[in-house]
Amino acid sequence: MAEWWRGVPKLELHAHLNGSIRSSTLLELAKERSKKGDLVLSEVEGVILKDDRSLQECFKLFDLIHVLTTDHGTISRITKEVIEDFAAENVIYLELRTTPKKNEAVGMSKRSYVEAVLAGFKAVETVKAIHLPSDGNIQYPDEVTHKNSTSEGPRMQQIFVRLLLSIDRRESLDGAMETVQLALEMRNSGVVGIDLSGNPVVGEWQTFLPALTCARKQGLPITLHCGEVPNREEIQGMLEFRPERLGHVCCLEDLEWKTLKESDIPVEVCLTSNVRTECVTSIADHHFADLYRVKHPLILCTDDPGVFSTTISREYALAASCFDLTKTELFQLAKNAVNFIFADNKLKETLRLIMEEAECVFAGTK
Ligand code: 5GP
Repeated sequence: MAEWWRGVPKLELHAHLNGSIRSSTLLELAKERSKKGDLVLSEVEGVILKDDRSLQECFKLFDLIHVLTTDHGTISRITKEVIEDFAAENVIYLELRTTPKKNEAVGMSKRSYVEAVLAGFKAVETVKAIHLPSDGNIQYPDEVTHKNSTSEGPRMQQIFVRLLLSIDRRESLDGAMETVQLALEMRNSGVVGIDLSGNPVVGEWQTFLPALTCARKQGLPITLHCGEVPNREEIQGMLEFRPERLGHVCCLEDLEWKTLKESDIPVEVCLTSNVRTECVTSIADHHFADLYRVKHPLILCTDDPGVFSTTISREYALAASCFDLTKTELFQLAKNAVNFIFADNKLKETLRLIMEEAECVFAGTK
């Protein structure tokens, strides 16, 4: 089934750059660092190759990943690889998110970190990655169609890529403000929104409210990681804030579910991630089923395909089998994701056309 879903065009709206890194790249980087004597390979190999991680073990792995991906060249490399991997899954629009990081030892500022990510967008080779040029003037030449060939021969596969900048819950308000400012300045280069993520048991989300409000006032859409742990005050505060999208929303109580459903805020659902990190007890108990039943806006996403050894096609196959959904129903879900992207309306139209074309082909094959 995952193989079948691989052939279907899809959108990915919740994927963290460093959580999407290939295990092979991570091991290669660890080996390089161990040769330099920076770390002991045998001590980190187990952390990298471990398959089932608790939420807190994931954050230990993220700390290790961040130690291995400190320089600009590596950031560009992993960005390029991540985009190519999503394109290989037939993702036609990728909204990648990452936390801009400072590292004085290698001359890295938050700005130069984001520039390295954007350099990775441009370095993509196996597919045509369509990102925003620095003047913000995107051209839509032959992008309106996803057909595989033209009169001149086979068309190169295309993937539209945009970036969200994440605020890490470990940061100070000043740090968060700097990220929002950077996002505003880099809007013309492909940054389309702000995310709040990081270890949910660290920090308080209210710390970042002034930065989130500033982003909102300037028209930058916001998505918040919400309800990964039971934290009543935080969950209720986030729902009241009414971000443009919410990630996860696992540990809600009855009244909060009611508020969520009334709000119509689209939810980025990450099935494998939620089960692996024990935010939900099992897939069968996942809130996807209830939210889908009441037609709440939902988007299937991977979260961290590298960390959780999954793919977006696998997440679709999982949803199909666990919730007994037909291909037509799930295709509709994939198509609806277009409505919830943070990019402009012109791109939404383009993506709709691509999905409609695919629907025609799909109608003949299902
Ligand atoms: P990066 O922002 O470094 O590209 O991606 C890794 C970071 O994304 C992690 O350090 C963490 O801050 C955030 N992240 C990745 N997955 C999750 C998740 O499942 N929950 C939360 N709250 N944050 C996450």
